[in-house]
Amino acid sequence: MFEKVLIANRGEIALRVQRACREMGIKTVVVYSEADRDSKYVMLADEAVCIGPAASAQSYLNMPAIISAAEVTDAQAIHPGYGFLSENADFAERVESSGFVFIGPRADTIRLMGDKVSAKNAMKATGVPCVPGSEGALPDDLKEVAKIARRVGYPIIIKAAGGGGGRGMRVVHTEAALPSAVTMTKTEAQTAFGNPTVYMEKYLENPRHVEIQVLADQHGNAVYLGERDCSMQRRHQKVIEEAPAPLIPARLTARIGERCAEACRKIGYRGAGTFEFLYENNEFYFIEMNTRVQVEHPVTELITGIDIVQEQIRVAAGEKLRIRQRDVVLRGHAIECRINAEDPYTFVPFPGKIEMYHPPGGPGIRFDSHIYQGYTVPPYYDSMIAKVIAYGDTREQAIRRMRIALSEMGIGGIKTNIPLHQELMQDARFVKGGVSIHYLEQRLADKGEVKR
Ligand code: ADP
Repeated sequence: MFEKVLIANRGEIALRVQRACREMGIKTVVVYSEADRDSKYVMLADEAVCIGPAASAQSYLNMPAIISAAEVTDAQAIHPGYGFLSENADFAERVESSGFVFIGPRADTIRLMGDKVSAKNAMKATGVPCVPGSEGALPDDLKEVAKIARRVGYPIIIKAAGGGGGRGMRVVHTEAALPSAVTMTKTEAQTAFGNPTVYMEKYLENPRHVEIQVLADQHGNAVYLGERDCSMQRRHQKVIEEAPAPLIPARLTARIGERCAEACRKIGYRGAGTFEFLYENNEFYFIEMNTRVQVEHPVTELITGIDIVQEQIRVAAGEKLRIRQRDVVLRGHAIECRINAEDPYTFVPFPGKIEMYHPPGGPGIRFDSHIYQGYTVPPYYDSMIAKVIAYGDTREQAIRRMRIALSEMGIGGIKTNIPLHQELMQDARFVKGGVSIHYLEQRLADKGEVKR
C-alpha cells in the first residue's frame, strides 16, 4: 500500500479523500491555491503545498505544478478527485510517466470514454444498450444528416463528442431547424472543447437519469454497486441524488448492472467509474461514462457499506478487489442534497464569509463538507459547499431524516440553497418518487409564473 498520497483537488472532496487515506494509515499531501490557504483540509493534511494563484488554470489545472509538488513531497500516488484534472487523459499519462500512480483508470481508457462517440461505440460493442442515433460522428453533408435524422425520428438531439458539463447539446424538432442547429453546435463544440465532431441521438422526452456505480481491479475483476437516480437536475446539473432508484424493478437494474460490470472486464477498466443512462419505458440507454469518483458517491456508500474512495486507492495500488458481486448487498435508502452558496431562487452564486455555522447530525445523517465558522467561501470555484446525506431503512425514513437535518442546520452570512431543498423534500411528486429529468426545471418555471 502507498505510504503517501497527493490529493490534486480542493473543497469537500479533498477532505473526503484525506479521511479515506487517514483511515488506511496513508499520509496525505494536499495542494492548494492562494485562495484556499485557510481551508480546514489544508491544515489537517500531513503536508500542504501551494501550487499557484486562485485561478484554476494556474493552480488546480496546472499539471507541472502538481507533479512537482508530488516530487518534492515524495508522494507515490495522486488522487484527482472529481472535476479539474480527474478526466484528463494527458494528466493521467504525465502522472504515470513521472513515476507516480494515477488513482483512476489508464490514460487510454480515459481517452476512449472522454470522446462520447468512441465511448458509445465501445459500449455498443460490449452489449450495453445506447440511445438510438447516428452511427458515430455526423458527416459534413447536411443532406446526409437530414437522412439520418429522418431515420432516427424527430425530436433529435445534436451532441458534441467532446462535450461535458451539460454543454454542447441542441434539441431539434423539425427538419427545417436541422441545418442551422448542426452548424451552430459544431462551431460551439470547436470553441468550447477544441473538437467540432458532433453526433445525433433520439431526444427522449421524459426520461430519468439513472447511473450504475462500478469498481474494477487490474486483474480482470469488476462489480457493480447498484444504481443511483439523479433526475433532479437544473441546467443538466444534479441537485439531489438517491440510491436505489425508486420504482424501478430490481431485476432491471441488476441486468443493466451486470452488463456494465461485463463491459469493465472487456475494456480492462480499472478503478471506480459510473455508467450514466437515461431510463424511459423500462429501458436503459447509455449516454456516457464518468471515469472518476462522483459527487454523489456517498449515497451508494451508505446503502452498500462500501467505502468507494478506499477501494479506488486499493485497486490503484494493484490489490485485487476484495468484493465479489454476491457480497454487494443493498440495504435501505439514501438521499443526498447538494448545498450550494447561492441564492435559492435566482441561483446566483453567493460567496462570502460564513458567520454562523450549525452542521446537521443525528441518526442516519452524514455531512461531507470542508466549511467552518469564519471560513470564507471563495468566488473562484464551484459553489457547492456541502453535501447532506440522509440514510433510512426506507425512502420515507430517509426523506424524514433529511427534512430534520435541513431544518436543524444553519449557515449564516452567505445565502445557500437550503430553502430550496426544504421545499423539495415536501414536494408531493418528489416524495412519490420517479420524477423525470425535466421535473425540477418545470417546477421552478411554474413557480416563477406564480410569483409574477
Ligand atoms: P454531459 O457530459 O454534458 O453531462 P450527457 O451526455 O451526460 O452530457 O447529458 C447530460 C444531460 O443532457 C442528461 O442527463 C439529460 O438530461 C440530457 N440529455 C442528453 N442526451 C439526451 C437524449 N438523447 N435525450 C434526452 N435528454 C438528453
